[in-house]
Amino acid sequence: ETITIQELANRMAERAVDVIKLLMQQGQMLKINDVIDADTAEIIATEMGHTVKRVSEADVEEGLYGADDDPADLKPRPPVVTIMGHVDHGKTSLLDAIREANVVSGEAGGITQHIGAYQAKAPDGQVITFIDTPGHEAFTSMRARGAKVTDLVVLVVAADDGVMPQTVEAINHARAAEVPIIVAINKIDKPEADPSRVRNDLLRQDIVVESMGGDTLEVEVSALKHLNLEKLLEAIQLQAEVLELTANPDRPAEGIVIEAKLDKGRGPVATVLVQRGTLNVGDILVCGAEPGKVRALVDDHGRSIQSAGPATPVEVLGLDGTPEAGDRFAVVDSDARAREISDYRQRKKRERLQARGGGAKTSLEQMMSQLKEQGRAEFPLVLKADVQGSSEAIVAALDKLGTDEVGARVLSSGVGGITESDVTLAAASNAVILAFNVRANRQAREAAERDGVEIRYYNVIYHLVDDVKAAMSGLLSPTL
Ligand code: GDP
Repeated sequence: ETITIQELANRMAERAVDVIKLLMQQGQMLKINDVIDADTAEIIATEMGHTVKRVSEADVEEGLYGADDDPADLKPRPPVVTIMGHVDHGKTSLLDAIREANVVSGEAGGITQHIGAYQAKAPDGQVITFIDTPGHEAFTSMRARGAKVTDLVVLVVAADDGVMPQTVEAINHARAAEVPIIVAINKIDKPEADPSRVRNDLLRQDIVVESMGGDTLEVEVSALKHLNLEKLLEAIQLQAEVLELTANPDRPAEGIVIEAKLDKGRGPVATVLVQRGTLNVGDILVCGAEPGKVRALVDDHGRSIQSAGPATPVEVLGLDGTPEAGDRFAVVDSDARAREISDYRQRKKRERLQARGGGAKTSLEQMMSQLKEQGRAEFPLVLKADVQGSSEAIVAALDKLGTDEVGARVLSSGVGGITESDVTLAAASNAVILAFNVRANRQAREAAERDGVEIRYYNVIYHLVDDVKAAMSGLLSPTL
């Protein structure tokens, strides 16, 4: 472990120049942004009259999320659903229609608050949690931060339009996250609606719906006319049963931040989704890098509640600062512990930002050695080519490279220039983008720079395949 001189000085509340002087006396000529190792830092700190307490990742994060539950304590929990699909296919309308028709409280005309997620009731009385931000941007940016929120994706496809580019993107995102898809064929009220065309389009994306003999549930709906909404909820419930979703409600709460804002009257407000345990008013917690004590919990109807169990979205008031969407939270047993964790995370956050400024990047080679360490043998790729023929030829060639130990996993392959969406997908899955005879647009280049995604350009297929092969062979364990 290392630390910059600036950071060490900050933490001791000393001037950096004094640290540099002390190091000089010990024969080390260093500048403010140079790093020193933990032992040197400890010597310097002690000399300057500070008591040193080293905090490691394990000290802070251990036991926070790690502890596994006894299977006997697991109880069924509601599924968490994200709605995705092409723009204007009716994602927002569908979310609104379900909310209006099926609010859990059953209060007709009851006021619903937009807090980032809400709960609805399926016909059998079971609760379903919907993430209230449609589209794959939110889904993917959370996933890029390591947060798994969604159990199920409802893919909305307008029956008058069929499968469109963002439909395909949504399919790729759901697949990359290994989240099952339910298809909602929307706008069936329209005279020009052609649901069978949607089914055929989906077939081309390797999605075989039930009515065509496959196992992807499909429901024809109209968000506008509120047609078949109950059928859709039933399908979600059915799919959720297969997944056997459970959580232990009787433990300190943990979960994920869905939205967060600074409210003029109420201070920092975070909508969190409890993933296990039960969150109570009065609990001490750390939310991302922000410590706090739960002053109030507010549900999706704007009502003040005392506690929230697994898969329940709830607004938390009482945090010291505003966390970020995708941050994790956990209840801890003391203020001191909350502060310790939050200090540690604030520092990590600063270090991450600094490292980014220094152009930290996952290169193809780095990625392969990382994968090797993790003992994983899948090599995630996003492929873009100039024509369909090349794209297919490359996918076929990469398929052939696979062995029992390692294989390429093409998260998405498409035709056309590299867009920001390709980069978000790659970032979320730690993938490299392979570009064959295509370029990246400006937004994509900027996003790749920001997220540290590598884009490799090729104009000869076997060069591309050779590179992947070389990187993959570094992954293979030596044969004896
Ligand atoms: P989003 O971009 O996917 O969130 O789509 P919106 O929910 O904003 O819907 C786009 C447009 O389609 C709006 O003008 C909606 O009124 C319309 N729309 C949505 N659902 C239906 C439907 O079931 N039938 C018809 N006829 N129009 C719909």
